[in-house]
Amino acid sequence: MRKIVFFRFAPLLADIFPELLSTAGLIESELLPAPHMQGAIDFPEECGRLWIKADHTLPVAGSIKARGGFHEVLEYAENLAIQSGLIGASDNYRAFNNPAVRNLFSRYEIAVGSTGNLGFGVMAAALGFKAVVHMSANAKEWKKTRLRDRGVQVIEHLGDYEKAVSAGRVMAENNPNAYFVDDERFLSLFLGNAASAIGLKEQLQNQGIVVDVKHPLIIYIPCGVGGAPSGIAWGLNQIFGKNVYCYFAEPTQSPCFLLQMLANNGEHPSVYDFGLNNRTEADGLAVPRASLLAAQAMRNIIAGVFTVQDQTMFNDLARLYHSEAMAIEPSAAAGFAGLQRLKESSLCSSSANHIVWTTGGSLVPESEFNSFLQRASIS
Ligand SMILES: *Cc1c(COP(=O)(O)O)cnc(C)c1O
Repeated sequence: MRKIVFFRFAPLLADIFPELLSTAGLIESELLPAPHMQGAIDFPEECGRLWIKADHTLPVAGSIKARGGFHEVLEYAENLAIQSGLIGASDNYRAFNNPAVRNLFSRYEIAVGSTGNLGFGVMAAALGFKAVVHMSANAKEWKKTRLRDRGVQVIEHLGDYEKAVSAGRVMAENNPNAYFVDDERFLSLFLGNAASAIGLKEQLQNQGIVVDVKHPLIIYIPCGVGGAPSGIAWGLNQIFGKNVYCYFAEPTQSPCFLLQMLANNGEHPSVYDFGLNNRTEADGLAVPRASLLAAQAMRNIIAGVFTVQDQTMFNDLARLYHSEAMAIEPSAAAGFAGLQRLKESSLCSSSANHIVWTTGGSLVPESEFNSFLQRASIS
């Protein structure tokens, strides 16, 4: 049985990332009430209360990608170190931060293809690996710069996210010491994301929020390839069963998970097949084809998928900034549009709790954020 590695690694992480000192090395975000945003989007209290799961503040990566990305790297590092005999399974993992282990890791390259995975590359580089992130040439410039500043090699590829992933895989296959993180490692990414459910359960208890038949919990999560939202939804389903309802939000031009949910067995549709162009300012969600494993895991769990226009994301991003003083990126604002869609449903209930997962943004440069605000069209 595989276990979530975050707990074993916490003391080490507190040593190597000063921003994790205050949580003793755990990677967590707050659950925050959002009464002003609830007013700003006109969501009536008779339909329940709005909360924000603030993954846009996740330390080190500034986005939800910290969870899965960190978990994959840590599990890989653990296996290498134990196989080499440098670390024993029962050792204090602070011992990873020593020259012999770092010297071992420096001989390996870990590569990933991503829409903007600041978590993965930064963790790999911090442990001593050679870290490579393959990105679409269209990916945001500031994300590339930030990775390079942390010692990560960024390789840009013409075309979209999918093209970057396949080119990255080929390059890694030609290097015997390179390890390419993809679907084979899906379970690790999935576990890292599912871990958030454990933290959320405790936060709900601390806030006095009950989840049962009479008090449904409704979750709205932005979805790209589907790894992060499916891990979270699976974890929450383990804990709350049929009393939790998870909805995924996708850009209107990149609804890959929606298409996969509608597809027949054996099909793996791309948004391009449907005349869509996969162009969106929600760069973290600009994915043409969903992860099959994520889709499989969600088949009997997901409550629904909805699509959101870029303009709506900019408007909700601005509303959140003006109402709650939280700065998020466009991808991370996709969830808010879901609340309106449930106004007429049975999930509109004064005893319901609605959690919008804000998935990224705290590392966005100020000038970039100001340009997001300018694109909003709210009065
Ligand atoms: C990557 C990303 C997501 C979605 O995660 P997937 O695992 O690709 O579905 C959501 N929000 C932000 C900000 C992201 O960067």
